[in-house]
Amino acid sequence: MNLMYNSTRDKNVKVTASQAILKGLSDDGGLFVPESIPALEVSLDALADMSYQQVAYEVMKLFLTDFTEEELKNCINKAYDDKFDTKEIAPLREAAGAQFLELFHGSTIAFKDMALSILPHLLTTSAKKNAVSNEIVILTATSGDTGKAALAGFADVDGTSIIVFYPKDGVSPIQEKQMLTQRGANTKVVGIKGNFDDAQTGVKEMFNNKELAERMNKAGYQFSSANSINIGRLVPQIVYYVYAYAKLLKNKKLAKDEKMNVVVPTGNFGNILAAYYAKNMGLPIGKLICASNENKVLFDFFQTGTYDRNREFMLTSSPSMDILISSNLERLIYKIAGNDAKKCADFMKALSTAGKYEITSDMKEQLEDFVGGYATEEATAKAIKRVYDEEGYIIDTHTAVAAQVYFDYVAKSNDTTTTVIASTASPYKFTRSVMNAIDSKYEKMTDFELVDELEKLSKVKVPQAIEDIRSAPVLHDIVCDKTAMQDTVENILGL
Ligand SMILES: *Cc1c(COP(=O)(O)O)cnc(C)c1O
Repeated sequence: MNLMYNSTRDKNVKVTASQAILKGLSDDGGLFVPESIPALEVSLDALADMSYQQVAYEVMKLFLTDFTEEELKNCINKAYDDKFDTKEIAPLREAAGAQFLELFHGSTIAFKDMALSILPHLLTTSAKKNAVSNEIVILTATSGDTGKAALAGFADVDGTSIIVFYPKDGVSPIQEKQMLTQRGANTKVVGIKGNFDDAQTGVKEMFNNKELAERMNKAGYQFSSANSINIGRLVPQIVYYVYAYAKLLKNKKLAKDEKMNVVVPTGNFGNILAAYYAKNMGLPIGKLICASNENKVLFDFFQTGTYDRNREFMLTSSPSMDILISSNLERLIYKIAGNDAKKCADFMKALSTAGKYEITSDMKEQLEDFVGGYATEEATAKAIKRVYDEEGYIIDTHTAVAAQVYFDYVAKSNDTTTTVIASTASPYKFTRSVMNAIDSKYEKMTDFELVDELEKLSKVKVPQAIEDIRSAPVLHDIVCDKTAMQDTVENILGL
């Protein structure tokens, strides 16, 4: 029997995994969610002896039930290969009393590679399975890291093209250069005059535009999404929580069935939702600690039960978390509303009209495993310096938000549970903020001088992704107003 997927906003929608991956977003604007969350079938002991690829298969086959074993293994083997600079794919590093799960060893040195190196394969396999002949146009909004990882994943993939929108003034210089130097005849990168939420809203509007979809179809195109609203992004992210637990078990850092906590630096709520799904599959996870930067809409939500985006949007040193509308929270809301699509749709309507909604006390009770925390800019910089001073280990700004929230949580709760911190980017991606946090003497250096200094301090070799952009030519220069995103897409596609 196939596991089917429903929409969070319409209980009558029911599609297979491959159809959900192809569509990205349901026609009603809802997100696809599995009818139920499957339980792990193999024991944690057995998982402890498996490679990353093997764990990936054991987890993903439970969600993507309409893929054959051969199809899925093929996708996994093409994704998790030597594009990653370590065989472990997601190694653990113990420091500052926690286990840092390094999710940045893929080709664009951010955790988005964990899912975006496999999504193109899942998508092209899904297209074949469903006899789709249109070219699939991947439309993506990025706060900096998804864009590059999606571009790298889809560049020159037959039957696809990709258009990425990013906030022109809202990403780090290295993030921007990584995107603007992207090769591949099927890639387009567009800066918008607006923030990430504007980009994400613009993309969602195009997905929901039926008239546009019809014209696209006539011209031989259809949209899909590489954002974490696509279930094909979320499922691969569950894998590394299972893998991390299994490795900690193997290394005797955890005893059998002992719980682990996770701390996740959060923006769109995709990464932490994957941990929540892992917990629901039976992985012994205790607390799910959701770390925000100064855009602390999620912290307030866990505190009060009210989600309220009516506030000033802050640009911080952890730009990939500068988000006020965390799309994947919708999947959690749906679940704690008892899989009630009507109720979920009402909350989302309130969010788009009034900018806020308040969940019921029944729903709030189901959030007791979540802990919200946030770190100010100053505290984030201090966390980088503290971990460097104590351990000689250099973490990026996003990971530092999580580390600071972890330090605060432990101080307050005295909870000594073994804790995994999702380490979501290489410090090389946010060199300036990282180096300034360590010493103010770096302020006057250029970006690439800082890269060399970081190498000296961290004793971690400069990643290939950074070497690649030192001399690479800029190949993209489209900038548009946030209201002109659809016109830009129509121009690019010649509609
Ligand atoms: C995307 C991203 C995040 C936020 O992850 P979500 O799944 O959107 O919550 C955190 N850190 C980095 C470096 C990222 O690229």
